[in-house]
Amino acid sequence: MQIPLQVKGQTTDAVVGIDLGTTNTLIARMVDGVPHVIADRHGRVITPSVISIDEEGVAVVGDEAKHRALINPSGTLHSIKRFMGRGLADVTDVAHLPYKVVRADMGEQAAFLVHGRKFLPQELSGMVLAEAKKRAERSERLRIRRAVITVPAYFDDAQRQATRDAGRIAGIDVLRIINEPTAAALAYGLDKKKRGTVLVYDLGGGTFDVSLLKLSDGVFKVIATTGNTRLGGDDFDDALSTLLLDASQRALVAGHAQALRALKTASETAKIALSDADETTVRIDLAELGLHVDKTVTRAEYEAAITPLLDQTMKAIDFVLEEADLDHDDVDEIVCVGGSTRTPSVRARLAEAFGKPPHTSLDPDQVVAMGAAIQASVVAGDSEGAAVLLDVTPLSIGIETYGGGVTKLIWRNSPIPIRATEGFTTYVDDQTAVAIHVLQGEREMAADLRSLGRFVLRGIPPMSAGMPRVLVEFFIDANGILKVTAKEMTSNTEASIEVRPTYGLNDEQVEDMILDSIEHAEEDINAHIVADLKTDAGSTIRFSRKALKEQAHLVPPAMRAAVEAAIAGLEAVLQTNDKELIEAAAEVLNENTAPIANALMDEVLRVTVKGRTIGDVVGTDGQRTSARDIQLG
Ligand code: AMP
Repeated sequence: MQIPLQVKGQTTDAVVGIDLGTTNTLIARMVDGVPHVIADRHGRVITPSVISIDEEGVAVVGDEAKHRALINPSGTLHSIKRFMGRGLADVTDVAHLPYKVVRADMGEQAAFLVHGRKFLPQELSGMVLAEAKKRAERSERLRIRRAVITVPAYFDDAQRQATRDAGRIAGIDVLRIINEPTAAALAYGLDKKKRGTVLVYDLGGGTFDVSLLKLSDGVFKVIATTGNTRLGGDDFDDALSTLLLDASQRALVAGHAQALRALKTASETAKIALSDADETTVRIDLAELGLHVDKTVTRAEYEAAITPLLDQTMKAIDFVLEEADLDHDDVDEIVCVGGSTRTPSVRARLAEAFGKPPHTSLDPDQVVAMGAAIQASVVAGDSEGAAVLLDVTPLSIGIETYGGGVTKLIWRNSPIPIRATEGFTTYVDDQTAVAIHVLQGEREMAADLRSLGRFVLRGIPPMSAGMPRVLVEFFIDANGILKVTAKEMTSNTEASIEVRPTYGLNDEQVEDMILDSIEHAEEDINAHIVADLKTDAGSTIRFSRKALKEQAHLVPPAMRAAVEAAIAGLEAVLQTNDKELIEAAAEVLNENTAPIANALMDEVLRVTVKGRTIGDVVGTDGQRTSARDIQLG
């Protein structure tokens, strides 16, 4: 009897989306085309982003770490996300934390000092990711190697890089880092609409963020974002607690940790109850303090208490709209993220402000992880359809050309990934190397742009100027890494570099660079035209000198004198930046060298077409082959 092989304990490779949150971390994946958050074997979908390290250096992560906060306050670390990719000088409000924030051993980065050992934020976030990954892998028999991780829209490049590093530390290949509001919009499938304006309102336990996204051709761009790192559901709890206690009771609990905790728990429970019920009754009995509360709170009372908090969030919305120069009416979709958006008055205020209800059908705590999962499966090629392009290059990228101008290969706001190529050639004879200087920005001259890197393509066989064909290719991958390759086509010599164009750039600097280019637009374009004219004039002068020397037999003395005078005239005006003067002098030189070019052409053609003149071959109706074209062959 043959027994078929049993497929036992088989694991599946999964590509997932991860919401690495300040307080909680969630992992989601696509199952049958639908995103779902992965629960662990105990049914928990959330891994608290908390790590507790004991005296021996042993770390526990997640729920267990959270429980240890009371017995090991100085070794239990939370809110690590606030420190990711930040220098010690950048972080404020560290004095009240129960653990020590210090300078890392190398560089300016903030680190945590726990029982005499330093830990970097990305190391700790890596531990959180590893724990969440382990839980997900065990419960669904998965092997998680690749993921898309989300970050707040305001994260700069260093913060994004730290998040990427955290992923790597956890053994995850981070396919992409995407913005949390973008992920939320994706979870609702808003990218299918192709264009529109989306407002993402994210109100969690302790933080509030609002972002305005512009969608065009399926590409999301965050056009404005703001927030408050000290506003969230915790403040709603506090507002509700003021309704529960009178002045004398408040004095009783003040400074009493256990009573404050009981009050906080009761307030949060009541708050959540009021999201469904019109009223709720709160009972707190702390016999040792003589505190007895038995109070009914109505939804109307609670809503009145949180009105000032909601007003603050509405002001933030006004701010982002103003930043983007838009009105409430211009917003097509509103997306709710974060547990506190379950509050009915939050939804009502949004509906009232925009004249349409916000999207709330998905779990607001899971929507970011779900969107990340959708994006992960698209990037990994598991989902059908074109990759949803979420990111665009913030600034144009190009290379410096002879004379100090720049040739742009990739324009600002191009969706990535993107590839662009352009052909270049050498400027002087027998040039065996070309310098490739990669630049970023909107201005026209290399000196006004941000240098991303340089490299040299060597080994070009000696040839006349203009003969070699150097093909330069720019490729920006989905992660925003730019690879520049230069290849000389006749010899196949090649050189390349890789750079991260956004490294060390924040949104403000990008904005400044764009504004700067608008301000200098006219003078820049002139400068570029003059630089190119000078380069061309230089070539013409060199060609002319060469022709005088090498084709001396074709040049009668009077013509030689005229050409030499024209060269001197052009050289003189090249000292100026006067476009008209240079153009005129170049034209004079071209006119004087044209007879040499024609004579030379005749001679060449006589050899190949046996006696027919240039006029016979090209025709007399113009299309004169210029001196430079001959040179280029
Ligand atoms: P998050 O940080 O996104 O998980 O949000 C957590 C916050 O959402 C906490 O302040 C919770 O009290 C709050 N929250 C959870 N469920 C509800 C609910 N049904 N109504 C109001 N707030 C809620």
